[in-house]
Formats: sequence, C-alpha cells, structure tokens
Amino acid sequence: MENLVQYGYVVAAALFILGLKQLGSPATARHGNRLSAGAMLLAIIAALLDQGIVEYQWILIGFAVGAIIGAAAARLVEMTSMPEMVALFNGFGGLASLLVGWAALNPGAGTFTLVTIVLSILIGGLTFTGSLIAYGKLSETIGSGAVMFRGQQVVNSLIVLGILVSAVMFTREPGNAQWLYLVIGLALLFGIMVVIPIGGADMPVVISLLNSYSGLAACAAGFAVNNNILIVAGALVGASGIILTRIMCKAMNRSLGNVLFSGFGSVSSETTEVEGEIKPISVQDAYYVLEAASNVAIVPGYGMAVAQAQHVVKELQELLENNGCDVNYGIHPVAGRMPGHMNVLLAEADVPYDQLLEMDDINPRMETVDVCIVIGANDVVNPAAREVESSPIYGMPIINVDQARTVFVLKRSMASGFAGIENPLFYKDNTRMLFGDAKESIGGLVREFD
Ligand code: NDP
Repeated sequence: MENLVQYGYVVAAALFILGLKQLGSPATARHGNRLSAGAMLLAIIAALLDQGIVEYQWILIGFAVGAIIGAAAARLVEMTSMPEMVALFNGFGGLASLLVGWAALNPGAGTFTLVTIVLSILIGGLTFTGSLIAYGKLSETIGSGAVMFRGQQVVNSLIVLGILVSAVMFTREPGNAQWLYLVIGLALLFGIMVVIPIGGADMPVVISLLNSYSGLAACAAGFAVNNNILIVAGALVGASGIILTRIMCKAMNRSLGNVLFSGFGSVSSETTEVEGEIKPISVQDAYYVLEAASNVAIVPGYGMAVAQAQHVVKELQELLENNGCDVNYGIHPVAGRMPGHMNVLLAEADVPYDQLLEMDDINPRMETVDVCIVIGANDVVNPAAREVESSPIYGMPIINVDQARTVFVLKRSMASGFAGIENPLFYKDNTRMLFGDAKESIGGLVREFD
C-alpha cells in the first residue's frame, strides 16, 4: 500500500506539471484544467490512504459540500467577476493552510516542524485577510481607493516585529498557546495592512501575488504534516503565481515595488494634454468603411467583457471574411481585468486561436491595417504610453492601433479607462468614435451587413 500511495503522488505531481503546461495555450487550456483537477482528486485519495484514515463519513460530507459550492459558484459567476472569485479561492486556500499548520501542532514536534507550522500559519493567515480585502476592493463592497495614513510604515514595522518575536517565542515554548494566538492574530492583521494601501486598479496583480503566497503556505503546511504532494502542489502554485505577477508587472511597465507601495490610483495623476477634436461616426458610415476594407484588426478590452459582445464580434468577423476581408485580433497581455481575459471570452465565441495575435505580433503589421476596431479597450491602446513622458503609463507597451489607416473606437462615452487618464487616441485625425454599448454597436454593424 505504501508503494501505491507514493506512485499515486508521483503520477499526480507529473499530471499537475503537464496540466500547467497545457494551460499555456488556449487550444489546450481546457484539457490542462481537467488534467490538473483529476490529478488533485488522485492526490486527495492517495493522501487519505497515506494517513491511514478509517472513518470517511466527514470527509465525504466535506467533499460533497465543497463540490456543490464550487460547481455552483463557477457556473453563476460572471466572467467579469472572475478575479474576485480567484481572490476568494486564494483566501480560503490560505485559511486552509493556516488550519492544517495549526492542527499539525503536537507535543513531540521538533524545531523544524514548529518553524514550518509558524510559516504556514503566518503566510496562510495574511493570504486569507489580504485576499478578503482584495475581494472587497475589486467588488467595491469596500472602497477601492488606496488607504494611506501617517505613520503607516511605523505601524507595519511594529506588526512585523511583533510577528518575529511571537514566532521565535512560539518555537521556543510551543506549549504556551498565547504565542501561537499572537502569531495568528498578527498575521491576519498584517494581511489587511499590506493590501489596504494598494489601489483597486492594481488588485489583479495583488491577487496573483496572493495566489503565489497561498501556494507557499500550502508548501509550508506540507512540510508541517510531512506530505510530499502538498509540498509539490504548493511549490507549483507558489512559482506559477510569482511568474504571473511578473508578467503582469512587465506588461504594465511597473515594478512589483511600485505596485505594492506607490498607492497608484489613490490620486488622479492626469497630466496629458490632448490636441484635436472628437469625430463621432454613425453605425451606417462605419459600415461603409468596413465594407470597403480588405484588412481589419480587432482589438478588444475590458469594455467587450462588460458588454458581453464576444459573440456578435465573431458574427462581424465572419461577415467581414465573407466579404473578402482579412481579420485578425490583437490581444494585449493586460487587456481586461486578468491575464488571458480576452482569450477566454473569444474562445467562448469560437474565434479560431490562430487569429488571436499577441501584441508583439500585431504591432509590426498595424501600418498595413485598413481599419482597426477598438472594442472597449482604452489604456492598452493609449498612445500617451509612447508619446507623453509625463504620463503615469509612459513606457507601458501598448497595441499601436493609431498606426492603422482608420481607427474605430467603440465605447459609451469619453470616460477614461482603468488607469483614470486621458487618451489622445480619441482625438487623432484617423480616429472615429462609435459611441454606444459595444454589443449594440457591433450588432448594428452586423445588421448592416445582413
Ligand atoms: P480599460 O479599463 O482601460 O478601458 C475599458 C473601456 O471600456 C472604458 O474606457 C469604457 O469606456 C469601455 N466600456 C465599458 N463598458 C463598455 C460597454 N458596455 N461598451 C463599450 N465600451 C465599454 O480597459 P483595457 O482593457 O484597455 O485596459 C485594462 C486596464 O486594466 C489596464 O489599465 C491594465 O493595466 C489594467 N489591469 C489589467 C490587468 C490584467 O491582468 N488584465 C491586471 C491589472 C490591471 P466607457 O465607460 O466610455 O464605455
């Protein structure tokens, strides 16, 4: 039996890695997800056999309740609310590690086990409350602004000092419960304190970082209960979370330090002066231009997700193609509110993967594009990132839609995007604004073609 359990762990670990690899491409992502879920089931069964558990009724009840809640939540949650859901998942992962670490405490525990218990409680605790704050900011159940106050750094330093002292004291006197309670309390408080000074706009990055922390907490819990698969799974989550965090920071041209400590979004940092005038266009006029186009690029952003316009966009793509036009999509790595947001939406509408071009692939072709249709994207196509040195987003890589012969921008108003800054694209000579809900505007174009 012992051997069987260890083989189970090895197979589960290999499947986790394969699943993660497959998540890297939209074509294989679903399969990768299923593979990883299957691997988790295998890991759970192997771990139960490993622990020699004989009474399963509570485990089965927990399993059923968790499965029902998880399946219902996954079905009911809106695509635009996915980051909030991930925040909650991370938070509960952190809480689980805290509880596992706590439960692993036994009178005979050696120093190494005590240290891993402290780490799982500490990282799990701060991940839990940090994720709840991130959830609250994203869903705007609490204010999404950055909360900063005088002496904040001093308070944080005192909390860190308190954590260090109580953690050391706990490992020296594990029988004295007050040190453990102090570590738990301070870790929970620290999670709140590190996330409140970060603006809502940066929450997706924070969530990705907390995802990494939840993995580290699980890894520490794995050491505490001496379970290899928990160590492996935790390390994989920890590493992939930090890689994703790095990708997001790079795509926004900001350092992690800047995201965590600058309070970006707490004050309006608008400095861009714009020249030119707004030129609105009607659906009918836009149709005439599109009908004559032979090369169209579609650049979606957060507004496409809000409008749920992906299915009509696919219809428009097909009508354009039937009209002899070449159509591609330009996908910015941080378009929307989470990495891969646009890919998921377009995959849902069965847009072929080979028509989704990454920013670096579509940019060199932009000058040959007759019409670029910007659908609810704003920051990721803002030329101020290239042209205006004083802009807060200066240096952020963008999709150069302004280099197309004609640009249609589909949005409801002149409101700014997530970064809260003016967009000179809307005033350029070759830009036409097609105002309205993206789904309605595209629906109008589809009707003109029909
Ligand atoms: P933005 O948030 O910059 O802009 C979205 C635009 O969509 C708005 O200007 C809004 O204008 C428009 N819009 C909203 N609803 C509709 C609708 N129903 N129909 C038509 N238009 C609509 O989105 P981008 O995708 O360009 O940029 C993403 C931003 O999020 C960037 O700042 C990025 O840094 C940030 N971010 C992204 C992360 C990620 O991983 N993807 C992570 C962290 C941050 P209007 O109200 O006038 O309609």
